[in-house]
Amino acid sequence: MQELTHYINGAHVKGQSGRFADVFNPATGEVQAKAPLANVEELALAVSIAADAQKGWAATNPQRRARVLMKFVDLLNRDMDKLAEALSREHGKTIPDAKGDVQRGLEVVEYCIGAPQMLKGEFTDGAGPGIDMYSMRQPLGVSAGITPFNFPAMIPMWMFAPAIACGNAFILKPSERAPSVPLMLAELLEEAGLPKGILQVVNGDKEAVDAILDHPVIQSVGFVGSTPIAEYIYGRGCSNGKRVQCFGGAKNHMIIMPDADMDQAADALVGAGYGAAGERCMAISVAVPVGDETADRLIEKLVPRIEKLKVGPYTAGDDVDYGPVVTAAAKEKILGLVNAGVEQGAELVVDGRDFALQGYEDGFFVGPHLFDKVTPDMDIYKQEIFGPVLSTVRAQSYEEALKLAMDHEMGNGTAIFTRDGDTARDFASRINIGMVGINVPIPVPLAYHTFGGWKKSAFGDLNQHGPDAFKFYTRTKTVTARWPSGLKEGGEFHFKAMD
Ligand code: NAD
Repeated sequence: MQELTHYINGAHVKGQSGRFADVFNPATGEVQAKAPLANVEELALAVSIAADAQKGWAATNPQRRARVLMKFVDLLNRDMDKLAEALSREHGKTIPDAKGDVQRGLEVVEYCIGAPQMLKGEFTDGAGPGIDMYSMRQPLGVSAGITPFNFPAMIPMWMFAPAIACGNAFILKPSERAPSVPLMLAELLEEAGLPKGILQVVNGDKEAVDAILDHPVIQSVGFVGSTPIAEYIYGRGCSNGKRVQCFGGAKNHMIIMPDADMDQAADALVGAGYGAAGERCMAISVAVPVGDETADRLIEKLVPRIEKLKVGPYTAGDDVDYGPVVTAAAKEKILGLVNAGVEQGAELVVDGRDFALQGYEDGFFVGPHLFDKVTPDMDIYKQEIFGPVLSTVRAQSYEEALKLAMDHEMGNGTAIFTRDGDTARDFASRINIGMVGINVPIPVPLAYHTFGGWKKSAFGDLNQHGPDAFKFYTRTKTVTARWPSGLKEGGEFHFKAMD
């Protein structure tokens, strides 16, 4: 069995702690590798290497730093098939989804090539007589990122691309369930010309995370994962004086108005609800048709589409709609919640509980489920299921649907399907959720906008990628400079223009 490594100081380094996590092939259920789980000393070694390397990197001009990212984009494209295959093998998602994972990260790298423009700073000529004032954006030093299993390429790139572009060194602690692609990305960046020690990958679990949160040299921590861990990391990181941004779980509602194009809405729901086995933070997990007649029409359109979904391993070809979930524990949790939904009185319209795939009996496959008549007090409504389960909550009016989405504690993404511009505009304006789709089911902002939820889906002030990333990974220094010409009148400085 393959023993994976850390990537420290430009080399693959074996784990020293003696602790490992099993890395599965979710399609077969086999353990295909083991990932080392770093201890405090291993993390500290990476931090001291990062701190040394960062000084030279920060002194490298932004254009040269950007050129490394340019080359990195070429290498990502060159190795796209290899990366996608490794990603699918550990995560279970289809090859087109895996390529999308790499591609959406790559687009953030492309955006970060604009670092020289983003880091220019501000200048006020003549803030007073002989006085100039300017603000610079300087790197923080050593930053760290802790990432989830569900986008093993995209989310690390969301973090390390801007961090590196800004002149920081970055320590990535990827999910122990999908560690291979992050290691490959670190190798590719070095091939692109990144100096050793600027991007290091330290595999691990809570022990490594706590070591990151407590290390005094690490200046900032980015996290993406489930809400309870996001809250924990935000609290501990902030109390240790770090700059922290944490992005948590989701329960994304899609409201379907009576005037919506019902075929379009049903197609969108099937893609957004079941794609990647529902393991997306922007998946739609709650459909909210407005009016019983709309609900009946929607369910009628959804059922045949869901029954046609092809569930299988990524090796079965590009017409597979979705693959297995990530672990046996994830499968068990999903089916447990489905059973709770039935017990609590929801109507299970499509029941995937008996789903089995010949030849892959030990894989972590979960059939698609559709619930109707779900109510807000049920566990399947309150909790993030993170599986191929769509719940329908019937609302009797637009206001009721809006209130439902607003009252949920999560606020990552949402969507409305309607032909009415007025309703759509009202929805976008009033909803207390960070990312909104209008006739778009998964409104993931592109790299040059920012990504982030509200409420319990995010902790911290700034979003990911887009201009916010350049703020998060730099700090502002403002210089007020006075030159002798300002001292002309009798040697005394005059602040006239500033009075
Ligand atoms: P997770 O919270 O289990 O793990 C995320 C990271 O935290 C991993 O690196 C893991 O090693 C670490 N971790 C786990 N338990 C820890 C603990 N007790 N102490 C310290 N660190 C710990 O999340 P996951 O299952 O890998 O990912 C799925 C979750 O991520 C879902 O809730 C999903 O909605 C969320 N997610 C959110 C976004 C977003 O942008 N809001 C994007 C993708 C995924």
